[in-house]
Amino acid sequence: MRRTPLKTKAPRRTKAQSRYFKYHPRCRVCGKPACDVHHISGNRQDDSDENLESLCWEHHRGDRSVHTIGIIRFCEWFMLTKDLKWQKVYDKAVGKIEFNRQMEELKGEHDT
Ligand SMILES: [Zn+2]
Ligand SMILES: [Zn+2]
Repeated sequence: MRRTPLKTKAPRRTKAQSRYFKYHPRCRVCGKPACDVHHISGNRQDDSDENLESLCWEHHRGDRSVHTIGIIRFCEWFMLTKDLKWQKVYDKAVGKIEFNRQMEELKGEHDT
């Protein structure tokens, strides 16, 4: 069983993250009070506004979160595929899968 870490200490935030959080205090997905600032690209060194997104626990680390279901499903489920900030990362993730699929197909052709 998993314990819900409701009372854990607030995560350390950089200045840029705190500032972003101050102006975006609500979850991008559901509008509830957010508790985390997520790095959209996965690059935790990149604290630019375009790479940060406020998310609540459920949508950041919970069962329906970007870290649990992955960027592609997350964007599709919550209609972020056309969101300016998420689209780039989504397209890249989808592109990577498509690239791998094509590589597999090419390999298959050579095997026959
Ligand atoms: Zn949420
Ligand atoms: Zn995150």
